Amino acid sequence: MTDFTKTRAAFHVPDGVIYLDGNSLGPMPVAAASRVAQTLQGEWAEMLIGGWNKAGWLAQPTLLSDRIGNLIGAGAGTVMLGQTLSIQVFQALAAALSLRPERRVILSDSGNFPSDLYIANGLIDSLGQGHELRLVAPEDIAGAIDEDVAVLMLTEVDYRTGRLHNMKDLTAKAHKAGALTLWDLAHSAGALPVDVTGTSADFATGCTYKYLNAGPGAPAFIYVAPCHIDEIRPALSGWLGHAAPFDFAPVFEPANGIERMRIGTPPVLAMAALEAALDIWADVSMRDVRAASISLSERFIAGVGKHCPELELASPKDPLARGSQVSFRFENGYAVIQALISRGVIGDFRAPDIMRFGITPLYLNENDIDRAVAILADILKSRAWDDVAFKTRSTVT
Ligand SMILES: *Cc1c(COP(=O)(O)O)cnc(C)c1O
Repeated sequence: MTDFTKTRAAFHVPDGVIYLDGNSLGPMPVAAASRVAQTLQGEWAEMLIGGWNKAGWLAQPTLLSDRIGNLIGAGAGTVMLGQTLSIQVFQALAAALSLRPERRVILSDSGNFPSDLYIANGLIDSLGQGHELRLVAPEDIAGAIDEDVAVLMLTEVDYRTGRLHNMKDLTAKAHKAGALTLWDLAHSAGALPVDVTGTSADFATGCTYKYLNAGPGAPAFIYVAPCHIDEIRPALSGWLGHAAPFDFAPVFEPANGIERMRIGTPPVLAMAALEAALDIWADVSMRDVRAASISLSERFIAGVGKHCPELELASPKDPLARGSQVSFRFENGYAVIQALISRGVIGDFRAPDIMRFGITPLYLNENDIDRAVAILADILKSRAWDDVAFKTRSTVT
């Protein structure tokens, strides 16, 4: 059994804070501070450029990638870390389209995160081959998969509502129609069990700063199914994806295996924080995380249902149809979230009216949930949110 008291102690959550925003930016692992300081002082400061060899900076992405792989059911040598998620979506989508040159449709849903859709449109424009991004409502995806579809590009867990797509069934349906799949695991990795191998996903991407807690700007990952790795040429073909980067040859030659999905210099300081974040997962079972997440989410929904009748559940009622977040609709949701934050309960808001709460058992327990419900109920009952101070929008919501 996972010891959640131990994992809770592994995070720094400021005193008096109940952190329900780990779906957006996970809190800092205590060990990250010394691990990053060691990279700064012991490695960069002392070794200078020698750190690439002596401190293993160049090999770091490969080692950490396999540890990410363990969390998403990916075998060794199928995951590569680097860049941001938006860039990994570009890499994966470009590679997937190149494997279906006779097809022109990218199918996605209207609940997908905008960056994934913007990247798809940008890629379509730069390819200039007449591809089309076809968007349907999330519940209509299965029926929209046909033989025109080159790539089914979906985010498994909807960032607004937490609705969970059935990765296995939709992948099977796509494959039956001759299409490939690209799954964005931004709200899945570290949140619930994922099995990219068992579901036969072709490509997957995800970030490490949400449920994996590696810090703002932490590197993102790409997964490529073993059957495709040697078939694809990276669209963003940078020198570190070259078979022999230090030959400095003028023509790109892809490296063997997943190393070809590297692009440029890895973010070494961010990798250090990621390493500390991944250490926490060593004794954690994702099944236990899922069970605890469901139990805490059900408790939260029941509490809000009882004490905050103004709020409407925006997430699926069925816990098996949700990821690890719970959302509610409320017209004045932005102000309520600001009022909550002022009282130490941190959630976030997504336009037009969604209040989101990430449920993360690694550092949240039943007591936190009960306190969050009580504070939320008090804010609604007293209309404490109805104050100009809570209605001014910040740049980041
Ligand atoms: C969080 C998130 C992103 C963010 O991309 P970045 O490049 O890391 O800013 C992209 N896609 C999805 C589905 C996300 O949830």
